[in-house]
Amino acid sequence: MELLVITYHYIREVFPEKGLYGITSEQFLNQIDKIREQGYEFVSLEAIKKPKNLPQKSCLLTFDDGLKDHYKIYRILKEKGIWGAFFISTDPLFNETALQVHKMHYILSQCDVKELLEDLKDIPYILSLVRKQYPWGEEKMAILKYILYFELSEHQRNNIINTWFYENYKGSEQEFIKEWYMPPNQVKELGQKGCIGAHTQTHRALATLSLEEISQEVRGSKRELELFTKQSVSSISYPFGGPTAVNDTVIRICKEQGFSIGFTIEKGINTLKDLQQTPLQLKRYDTINTYGGKYDELSRI
Ligand SMILES: [Zn+2]
Repeated sequence: MELLVITYHYIREVFPEKGLYGITSEQFLNQIDKIREQGYEFVSLEAIKKPKNLPQKSCLLTFDDGLKDHYKIYRILKEKGIWGAFFISTDPLFNETALQVHKMHYILSQCDVKELLEDLKDIPYILSLVRKQYPWGEEKMAILKYILYFELSEHQRNNIINTWFYENYKGSEQEFIKEWYMPPNQVKELGQKGCIGAHTQTHRALATLSLEEISQEVRGSKRELELFTKQSVSSISYPFGGPTAVNDTVIRICKEQGFSIGFTIEKGINTLKDLQQTPLQLKRYDTINTYGGKYDELSRI
């Protein structure tokens, strides 16, 4: 048995020139066809809790962040009889706070990285360390991310991101939330179909937080979603999902808080053994690295 899990974020028809990347719904549908051609059967979040009953080649489609784009996709999938898994961060939904990661995407779609760096010019950094953390891509972007996430405190980072955001976004935080995220009634509908999982409250890298903060993020988001949808929520997709975001402590706390399935962004196809022995560390491929994606790695295996 093998389980291929795919990660999606933005799926929309029009993208800005920069700062926001994803695929169109046509590309999405094309990918679905390609995966089927490979002999995969689409399975639900519920189904993978009983791994022995899964089809030989199973595929689960996952959608992170509770983005507005995802409801349309949910409807398309529903018509095809496919149940995706939607991972929701609760701050935009229940706390009228947009996630910092999306404010940053918006800022990058509007501003020049060079100008943003001007605002950070007094903060020293070592280029070799920058490149160790972010080896690929444009140098200025790597420096910007390094200063924001490795040189500034969380408080300083929030301040500067909010300053840039409100210099560029002309509406209110509530308006941005309406533009960016699925509204509560849609999340409720998905939840009642058993299609949602947690993605923490504030979308911070869990492994960088204190034990108390990690517990709060995972317990709080689980409880909020369960109260709201009246369904049990026992799956989580870890924000950012890489080694700096997920470690043994994070996994232990998630288990203690009642999660039984967890998704990282480590690339790979899951085996029956993975599902039985390490279900809180399941691997995923990003849409661009999968069949039909821009940098398809699977067809080459
Ligand atoms: Zn996310």
